[in-house]
Amino acid sequence: MISFLLVADVDSTLIKDEVIELLADAAGTRDEVERVTARAIAGEIDFAHSLRARVATLAGLPTSVIEQTIAQVRPSDGLPELVAAVHQRHGKIAAVSGGFSQVLDVLAPRFGLDVWRANDLEIVDGLLTGRVTGTVVDAEVKAKSLQEWARAWSVSRNNTIALGDGANDLVMMDRAGLSIAYCAKPIVRERADVSVEIADLRHVIAYLPS
Ligand SMILES: [Mg+2]
Repeated sequence: MISFLLVADVDSTLIKDEVIELLADAAGTRDEVERVTARAIAGEIDFAHSLRARVATLAGLPTSVIEQTIAQVRPSDGLPELVAAVHQRHGKIAAVSGGFSQVLDVLAPRFGLDVWRANDLEIVDGLLTGRVTGTVVDAEVKAKSLQEWARAWSVSRNNTIALGDGANDLVMMDRAGLSIAYCAKPIVRERADVSVEIADLRHVIAYLPS
């Protein structure tokens, strides 16, 4: 029996980086991408629109930049301890990311996550096309993923926890039994049930059901 479900954002939550910015470094479009990212995180522009605008700057890059990016990602401090603490308490830990499955599919098993979902970068002939395929993982899809996984594991809403830092995490945070802001933007801190302000995921462990 699964006692609870923790669903976490990835960029600037489970990892210290924003993956799109690492990819943009490789494309030489970091400044442009950072500006759009900051506005999206602050909730000023629609996430799906901003994602497409940022991914468009990656058109023509070889897929080797994905491996480079994976090598550069820095897990947040305390991530292994948080994952172990969830599993010790018979919980599940999931990730929903406005980033990319080509990166998360490699990192998530390494981190010990139980399930995850992200956007698919379109790749044709070994090059990024600058587009994403399928449904964009936006705030609503993050929230629906939390609900879908909770149902699949027969976890009641009360026993769901959402953890994130950005405006894109607010819908899933509203629908979870407990919402935890993690080194979050002010708008997220204000709406969350609790807020962790120290950049170390071990501080989340105190909020897990015992
Ligand atoms: Mg984030």
